[in-house]
Parts: sequence; structure tokens; C-alpha cells
Amino acid sequence: MQTALVIVDMLNDFVDGALGNPPSKEIVGPIASLAERSRTSDDWVVVYANDAHHLSDVEFRVFPPHAMAGTPGAAVVSELRPGPEDIVINKRFYSAFTDTELQSTLRVHDVGRLVLVGQHTDCCVRHTSYDAFVRDYELVVCPDATTVLEPGADEPLASRQERALEYLHTYYGARRESSTTVG
Ligand code: ZN
Repeated sequence: MQTALVIVDMLNDFVDGALGNPPSKEIVGPIASLAERSRTSDDWVVVYANDAHHLSDVEFRVFPPHAMAGTPGAAVVSELRPGPEDIVINKRFYSAFTDTELQSTLRVHDVGRLVLVGQHTDCCVRHTSYDAFVRDYELVVCPDATTVLEPGADEPLASRQERALEYLHTYYGARRESSTTVG
């Protein structure tokens, strides 16, 4: 049984572009280290779950246009560029499972556990977690390598992040583990 490190939406538009998020810069380093470690482990695969939107996508009812397919804004930030063995999944909805090849890809690699990092803890990470849960995957989330969206929110970042992590644990059984120790 393999583990998939799933790196969600660490794209230019989500770091300093259309949906720029200052706290996301702080999780780049931890994600890079964990990805490097995963690539050297026989029983881990690295999966990128990347927004690649079309103008007609439903998300644009509630978010401004971002990560349009094929544009620089939809590219993974340079510090986290996918390696040759990594798997890249393009998505058009919050969940990396919706209308993508993620599930069949995980099956090919005999994946039984997902370790989730990236953003946002309460949106794309959360919806991907729901779909993973109902498909019977074991879930781990790294608090030091995930973040919620900071701009525009009245409530402090830390309490929203804590509530998002608690939700993942309560409803999907996601265990919290530091990106430096998860094995
Ligand atoms: Zn999106």
C-alpha cells in the first residue's frame, strides 16, 4: 500500500497572483522538503492537484478568475516544480477528485493513504478530503504545510486554520502530522 503526497493549488495565482495569499509563502519550504523526502521513498508518490480553469467554470460565480488553464498563473510556483516522476492532476472544481483522473491514478499506484498539503485548508483541501474519505482513503493533513486564504477575512488566520483542521479530523478522521515527521 502506497502513500500519496497531494500538493493542492500551490500555483502562482494562489501565492502572489489573482488569489494571492501571503501565508502561502510560509508553507512553500515545508512542502518542498516533504516532496523531496517523498520522492526518495519507495512507497510514496507525489501528486499535484492544480486548478486549470475555463471561463465557464462554476467557481467564477464566487471567486474572481484565477489559474486559467495554460496561463502562467496556473503554473506551480517555481520552488515546487513537479519532478519527472510526479503526477499532475488538473482540476476545475474544489475537489481534486471531481471530473479528474485522480482516483484511477491512485488505484494504479495502489495508494491507500493521502497526505494533504497546500491550500486552502477549508476549501480545496477540505473538498478533496471529503472525496477521499468516501472512497475509503486514510487521511493525514500537515498543519505546518497547509493554510487558509488570508485576504478579505475578518477572523484571524490562526483560528480559521484551526477550525478547518478540526473539521477535517471530526468528519473525515484526518490525522494531523507535521510535515517534518510524517512517515
Ligand atoms: Zn479554482
